[in-house]
Amino acid sequence: MVQHLLERQVAHIELTTRQSTILDIVKTNGPITGNHIAEKLNLSRAALRPDLAILTRSGILGARPRVGYYFTGKEPADLISTMLGNIRVADINSLPIVVRDSSSVYDAIVTMFIEDVGSVFVVSEGSLLEGVISRKDLLKATMGGKSINEMPIKVIMTRMPNIIMTTPQESALRAAKKLINHQVDSLPVVEAVQVDNLEKYQVVGRFTKTNITRLFVHLVDNKD
Ligand code: ADP
Repeated sequence: MVQHLLERQVAHIELTTRQSTILDIVKTNGPITGNHIAEKLNLSRAALRPDLAILTRSGILGARPRVGYYFTGKEPADLISTMLGNIRVADINSLPIVVRDSSSVYDAIVTMFIEDVGSVFVVSEGSLLEGVISRKDLLKATMGGKSINEMPIKVIMTRMPNIIMTTPQESALRAAKKLINHQVDSLPVVEAVQVDNLEKYQVVGRFTKTNITRLFVHLVDNKD
């Protein structure tokens, strides 16, 4: 998955010979249509499509309908932000780990251990988001001396509408900024749904600092 992403996004760092040639043609002749580039290379327009897609997606080339391709002149730093801005939460998120809102604090602790995660989302029927529980919330609950078997998770969770969320379509960069600005380790990835005329949020994924760390490593070290 990430491998595929990299092939799509990072190709500009090491352009193939053909991509470098296309870039030279556009720099000298741009704006120039795809057909004219193809003619100069003695190739079909279709054969060039993947290369042109990589060059435009990475921000090196711009494209305007009926005008053609042109060199954007973007600096490497701009290209990196264009590239990162193109990566969506859906490209790098993890599976959600959830407990039902009827669970006890004990259930949530067991889930956190078994699933090896730092926070768990609390959901009602239909995977609708109700709350978030982190390690610190659970530690705090155990300090009160009350029985964790009897204590409902609802009592200690951070609840809606105070939960910071993201969506599959949001850029990974924007979601990463939410993690930093709100000082949390994870965001539920949600899709908005209507339930009894109310806006609810169905949990479809988990976006964490680990997702960002993994992306960071893969961007440099092109391995799975
Ligand atoms: P830790 O317990 O390791 O500090 P966090 O920094 O993620 O973990 O959580 C700190 C607090 O923020 C906890 O009370 C938790 O319930 C709450 N929290 C965690 N994630 C979110 C979120 N996405 N939106 C709102 N609150 C959250």
